[in-house]
Amino acid sequence: MHIHPKEEIRGFILSLPLVHPFKTSFGEERERKFALIRVRRGELEGWGEVVASEAPLYSEETLASAVYLLKNYLFPMALSCGLDPRCFEAEAEKFRGNPMAKAGLSLALWDLEARRRGLPLHRVYGGVRKEIPSGVSVGIQTGLDELLSRIDSFVREGYLRVKIKIAPGWDCEVVKEVRKAFPQIPLGADANSAYGEGDLERLSCLDGADLLFLEQPLYPDDLYFHSLLKKKIKTPIALDESVKNLRKMKVGYLMDSYSLVNIKVGRMGGIGEVLRAAEFASERGIPLFCGGMLESGVGRAHNLHLASLEPFVLPADISRTQRYYHRDLTPPFDFSTPGYIPVPQGEGIGVDVDNAYLEKITLESF
Ligand SMILES: [Mg+2]
Repeated sequence: MHIHPKEEIRGFILSLPLVHPFKTSFGEERERKFALIRVRRGELEGWGEVVASEAPLYSEETLASAVYLLKNYLFPMALSCGLDPRCFEAEAEKFRGNPMAKAGLSLALWDLEARRRGLPLHRVYGGVRKEIPSGVSVGIQTGLDELLSRIDSFVREGYLRVKIKIAPGWDCEVVKEVRKAFPQIPLGADANSAYGEGDLERLSCLDGADLLFLEQPLYPDDLYFHSLLKKKIKTPIALDESVKNLRKMKVGYLMDSYSLVNIKVGRMGGIGEVLRAAEFASERGIPLFCGGMLESGVGRAHNLHLASLEPFVLPADISRTQRYYHRDLTPPFDFSTPGYIPVPQGEGIGVDVDNAYLEKITLESF
């Protein structure tokens, strides 16, 4: 094993307070604890973000499990690959699961690779869009009036699509009222797996609302019951949690479980797998959109580059920085024209990390 003396990998565990608490069918978040990964070769560095949260709510993975795997297995593996992203992703396949840990390091390695080549990251893997249509995800609120006023302010800001989080007790009536108040807006609903096989008939109550999609209504590992639901309701089904990799995406396609897919690099284990999924989607005309995990500027920059790939035709869950954080680790992302966030054109992810602020909010490094 040859390790270049000037190669280094470091992880930072941080906590960033959110502007508004974010409530989904899982629960409420007031601050976000996550990890950033920095890889260095000589003067060049690359950054990635690990989106695993403290509790295993979105998936089995946790921040602690990701840090354990990175420190003990993935960092040494990437060093023995000479920090080559493709080598690392291929090697990392021998470990089962843990996509968020793998993706955090994969992102940093791809950023480094793009900087080494002097190119913006999306140019390295063939992204085509210069700006990304921006959507916003609105959490569960304490009342309908509050929800309507929040949506109203987002629509005024220029967001091109609104996605509301739903759960039993906060679903059909709420969606109906939102549609009544905003007859024209492109609208989606995300249940984060809050329903089960006994709810298939009931979910047709959403059909009158002309939703762009109902996202992940059923179990987080399910493709079969989603395929039954797809036959029963008119609302297009988008899958998020269930599409853990390209193979799941293929099986879901063959089973007719979805109409569109929310792609998150953290869920799929790295950029390579997202590129293969995008190719599969492109060949079959499956519309994709880029999801979000309340990322800091590092993860958000990566998402903008990924959303520039051709099959990402729907507005992304990539909002302006101010929607999430008062102060971020990178310069804030904002609309260039209302509803559109430009893809950074500098080398790598195209934004630099504010090291002084990073140091200030780092709880622990590894
Ligand atoms: Mg989702």
